[in-house]
Amino acid sequence: MTSPTSVEPTVPSPFLTEEHLQIREMVREFAVREVAPLAAELDEHKRFPSETIPKLAELGLLGVPFSQDLGGTGMDNVAYMIVVEELSRVCGTTGITVAAHTSLGTTPIYAFGTEEQKRRWVPKLASGEMLGAFALTEPAAGSDAKATKVTAVRDGDQYVVNGTKIYCTNGTHAGTIVFTARTDPKSTGSDSICAFVVEKGTPGLHYGKLEDKLGLRGSDTRELVFQDCRIPAANRLGPEGGGFAQFMKTLEGGRISIGAMALGLAQGALDVALPHARERKQFGQRLIDMQAVGNRLADMAMEIQAARNLVYEAAWRKDRGLPFALHGSFAKLFASEVGMRAAHSAVQVLGGIGYTREYPAERILRDVKLCEIGEGTSEIQRLVITRHLDKQAGG
Ligand SMILES: Cc1cc2nc3c(=O)[nH]c(=O)nc-3n(C[C@H](O)[C@H](O)[C@H](O)COP(=O)(O)OP(=O)(O)OC[C@H]3O[C@@H](n4cnc5c(N)ncnc54)[C@H](O)[C@@H]3O)c2cc1C
Repeated sequence: MTSPTSVEPTVPSPFLTEEHLQIREMVREFAVREVAPLAAELDEHKRFPSETIPKLAELGLLGVPFSQDLGGTGMDNVAYMIVVEELSRVCGTTGITVAAHTSLGTTPIYAFGTEEQKRRWVPKLASGEMLGAFALTEPAAGSDAKATKVTAVRDGDQYVVNGTKIYCTNGTHAGTIVFTARTDPKSTGSDSICAFVVEKGTPGLHYGKLEDKLGLRGSDTRELVFQDCRIPAANRLGPEGGGFAQFMKTLEGGRISIGAMALGLAQGALDVALPHARERKQFGQRLIDMQAVGNRLADMAMEIQAARNLVYEAAWRKDRGLPFALHGSFAKLFASEVGMRAAHSAVQVLGGIGYTREYPAERILRDVKLCEIGEGTSEIQRLVITRHLDKQAGG
């Protein structure tokens, strides 16, 4: 079910080198052998893929885009997207766990931390010794992340943190959580939002509700409650007031990985639908030979290929230091909508059995919906893209 299809590049392309193809081969083999067999059970029992984490760490897959001197594998962002794509192709839960750990949990420290902060946390994160998480969303601050209400009030060489974060992916299992808080509780501007790192086990950090979700049910989505939680001032990332800009920058990169996740899920949908359409006969002919079914498969393949190009291009631009925010939004928005259409089509092509848990199509449909919501909804991506257009046009 996960052999290459005609829509996948099998020779180096503008964005893929021979090395990328080798990485894809390695990750695919691992995903099929170790990840795919667990996917249905993780979903069914809402079980976190704990046994897979050390195996991913062993292969270096929890630190792909980070430098070797900080415990990473020193590969590029295209390689990282391939990893998220291939894992998500067989298991959305594993895909989001890796994407949230890498893009959101580790990148802010890697990008904005002092030398000392990087040496303290990144090697453990990039080597997979511990997982990372990122907490921006609050009950009253979702798309409008500037509405942050969590506070961090300075007291000597510490900050005292109070308030609630929600929907924190990997929150329970993370060794470090990067989060935002307001250092001036009276201010409502983004210039009083600051980023901090809180370590697991810090007194005053409590784990609240574990979300029971539509999809990605094995992924850990946790509420975090800070009650007079004292954090050393040395855990502040960058200057006071710099947190909002840091988190927005982090999300620009994170969006590409949500695009990669949606791409993998879309490819997983085609992997299920294509063999079924070739094998099953009704009215004396194969489903694939019926034009209405064939057209669906053709559209899936074409859209998946277009999404793949957008995802790889955004990562390729990031690797070259070119502006990539617009391309990241293109990739995330397009791939997540392609993923939804592909999953919907896969269920339809399978018919009744597609609606059952016999096949992964229904799970993919539930899992991929998150890609239209997390790290900026589709509506927010369209706002981001429109603002870029307006700016480019000189408006
Ligand atoms: C499974 C899961 C994992 C998550 N992981 C994390 C995580 O690790 N860390 C983290 O910080 N957050 C995480 N989130 C939170 C996620 O990023 C937010 O849910 C998302 O940003 C949307 O915010 P909201 O849920 O408050 O929706 P709202 O902001 O309330 O939006 C509701 C609807 O209104 C629309 N809307 C809002 N504003 C506008 C606007 N200006 N114009 C047009 N439409 C608009 C939205 O597009 C959406 O359709 C996760 C969420 C889920 C479900």
